[in-house]
Amino acid sequence: MNITFFGAARTVTGSQHLLTLDDKRILLDCGLFQGRREEANRINRTFPFDPATIDVVILSHAHIDHSGNLPSLVKNGFTGKIFATPATRDLCSIMLTDSAMIQMKDADYLLRHKGIIVDPLYTLDDVIQVMSQFQSVPYNMEFEPIKGFKVEFFDAGHLLGSAITKMTWQENGVQKRLAFTGDVGRSNRPILKDPQLFGDVDYLICESTYGGRIHEEEDNLRGELLRIINDTIYKRGKLIIPAFSVGRTQDIVYYLNDLSNHHLLPNIPVYVDSPLAISATHVFRLHPECYNESIRTLLFSDPDPFDFRGLKYTREVVESKKINRQKKSCIIIAGSGMCEAGRVLHHLSHEISKERNTVLFLGYNAPYTLGRKIAQGDKYVNILGDSHKVRATVESLSGLSAHADHNELLEYLSHLNTTTVKKVFLVHGELDHQEALKTALVERGFGDVSIPSKGDSVNI
Ligand SMILES: [Zn+2]
Repeated sequence: MNITFFGAARTVTGSQHLLTLDDKRILLDCGLFQGRREEANRINRTFPFDPATIDVVILSHAHIDHSGNLPSLVKNGFTGKIFATPATRDLCSIMLTDSAMIQMKDADYLLRHKGIIVDPLYTLDDVIQVMSQFQSVPYNMEFEPIKGFKVEFFDAGHLLGSAITKMTWQENGVQKRLAFTGDVGRSNRPILKDPQLFGDVDYLICESTYGGRIHEEEDNLRGELLRIINDTIYKRGKLIIPAFSVGRTQDIVYYLNDLSNHHLLPNIPVYVDSPLAISATHVFRLHPECYNESIRTLLFSDPDPFDFRGLKYTREVVESKKINRQKKSCIIIAGSGMCEAGRVLHHLSHEISKERNTVLFLGYNAPYTLGRKIAQGDKYVNILGDSHKVRATVESLSGLSAHADHNELLEYLSHLNTTTVKKVFLVHGELDHQEALKTALVERGFGDVSIPSKGDSVNI
């Protein structure tokens, strides 16, 4: 078998790895590259191979940096099946639709405001075609997408439906096993199960996003959340929580629901102001097979952990605008998580200059994003073209990260027999983080750990 690393090589987006076995070609993930506009455009529009020659795609999970360029693949001639878990398929349906709408609106904006004619990267028609090529396979059920090439999904505990893919095949009478981690989650998270162990392999393609970095301990996440809510109410302010619509929003709603069940949540309105989050929450409700023990137990006493008294999901723009006019204390959860787009911008532009309000960040903010500027304490920020003085209190809680950190990844990989693993390839990380993880893996007995560059090809 030959592996070529075409994306998420020494970077964190655009996950895409091509396996060639005899005359068959298998693509692991087909993510959208995210970065500077021109570079992203060029990379996402041009595949380094002919999509028509790909036999099957195996998809680790629905995050756009792993699934978001599937519509381009199909648009450029891919006609094979896309294998993924049922929850990944369902999340892709809403997330790729959302992504297509963004591409179409972008093209429209450029035409109307700058007179530039561009073809959207893909459209809703391409997404519909992608959905018709999906084939769902549950966790822990071996399947054979190509004769003699066996595949099994293990729960990665990172996002609803996320999978670690284990592949087994024979070459020259020798059995070989390769695992691709996709993104690895963490133990003891609010909704999802712990990452599942996948057993011995000969080769491993492993993510390295948090190599060398440790998540802050959040012993008392519920307590801290409650303190921030109460502090804001004391000031008669609003609490604005920028959150990713898929995953993070459901986590925070789950925590608020828990506070409500314990009669600790003050009686104020809570708004989830994001159409994508509303659709994603429906998908979460449809997939209890991905739930961990604690949420399953909870279901006996609380049939809907994504709803509680005072919670309102707002889909329409007119409802969203009403929230801005509300004078009383409330909690507003809105996308996007790093404040780069979405309804959270309107809420921030209305509220960030008022001392009584609070902005709460739940995770990582990439450099140069509005989220990063607010979180790092900039006194003035530009929102939707206007400068605003930041007078609101800014807080952050990092205990909700969906990625295993350095130690958690090492702990998770400790179930592997290091003498059996012949090669480890680190992907999906910035180089310095990858180097840190590589050093730690070598110290723990993994003999051959490499960090492929984009386009590197290896025979295994
Ligand atoms: Zn992910």
